Amino acid sequence: AKENGRNLSQFFTREMNDEATERRALETALHQALEREEFVLHYQPIVDVQTGNLSSCEVLLRWHQPEYGNVYPDKFIPLAEDTGLIIPIGEWVLQKACREAMIWAKKTDTPPGVSVNMSSRQFQRINVVELVQNTLEMTGLPAERLTLEITESLLIVDDETVIEQLHKVRELGVGLSIDDFGTGYSSLSYLRRFPITTIKIDRSFILDLTSDSEAAAVVSAILSMAQSLNLKVVAEGVEKETQMEQLRKGGCEYIQGYYFSPPVPIEAFRLMVLKEGPM
Ligand code: C2E
Ligand code: CA
Ligand code: CA
Ligand code: CA
Repeated sequence: AKENGRNLSQFFTREMNDEATERRALETALHQALEREEFVLHYQPIVDVQTGNLSSCEVLLRWHQPEYGNVYPDKFIPLAEDTGLIIPIGEWVLQKACREAMIWAKKTDTPPGVSVNMSSRQFQRINVVELVQNTLEMTGLPAERLTLEITESLLIVDDETVIEQLHKVRELGVGLSIDDFGTGYSSLSYLRRFPITTIKIDRSFILDLTSDSEAAAVVSAILSMAQSLNLKVVAEGVEKETQMEQLRKGGCEYIQGYYFSPPVPIEAFRLMVLKEGPM
C-alpha cells in the first residue's frame, strides 16, 4: 500500500506538472492571439418563437490556435480572466461585434440585435460605460441593438462602481441580460435593484424540461415572474422540438439553441439575416 501511495503521488505530481506546463504554453499563446488575429466571432441566432423570425444573436468567441487547433472559450476565458488579458480581448470582441452588426443593418430593414458576453472582471477593472459609449460612437451602432450579457455573480458583489456602471450602460439604451439564470445566487432582489432587461434561462433547466416536472415548474415560475417584472426571456440550449413546443406554449418569447442553429461564422449568419421570414 505504501508503494502504491508513492506511485500515486508521483503520478499526481507528474500530471500537475503537465497541467502547469500546458497552462503556461496556453498563456503564452493567448498573449499573442490578438495581434496574430487568431480570434473570430461566431453568431448564434435568437429566434422569436411566436413568429419564427430571427430576433437577435449571441456573439461567441472562437480561437483558432495554429498549434492546438480550436480552443474553446470554457478553456481560455478563465485563463484570460486570471491574466487580465480579458480586458483587451473583451474590447476586441465588443468592437468587432458592433462593427459586424452594422454591416447587416445596411442589408435589411429589421437588422437583428447583438448580445455580447461580458466578464465581471471587465466591470471591476475598467470603465465599461466609456468602452461601450466609445464603441457605439465609433461604429455607429444604435444602442438599442446592443445587449450586454452579465452573470449573477456580478450582481452580488456589492460594489458601488459596478452598480453605477450598470445603470449608466442602461441609460445609454443598451440592454442588460442575466446569463445562466437560475444557476447562481438565489435571492432575486437584484432583479429590482438593477436595470435588467432580459433573463436567459440556463440550459440545465431546458435539458430536463420535458422529462422532469420540477425543471418544468422552475421554468414556468421564471416565465411568470419575468412577465410580472416586464422582462424578456430567452431560453438557452434548446435542442429538441418538444422543448421548443413546451416553451412556446408556456409563453416563452425567445429561443436559442441547436434546434434552430449552433453558433456559426459571420458568412453563414449573414445568410440567415438576409433570408426574410421564419427560420
Ligand atoms: P454562455 O454565455 O452560456 O454561452 C452559451 C454556450 O452554450 C455556448 O458555448 C454555445 O455554443 C452553447 N450552446 C448554444 N446552444 C446550445 C445547445 O442547444 N446545446 C448545447 N449543449 N450547447 C449550446 P461556447 O461558445 O463554448 O461558450 C462557452 C462560454 O464561454 C459562454 O457560455 C460564455 O460564458 C463564455 N464566452 C464565450 N464568448 C465569450 C466572450 O466573448 N466573452 C466572455 N467574457 N465570455 C465568453
Ligand atoms: Ca452568454
Ligand atoms: Ca448562458
Ligand atoms: Ca455559461
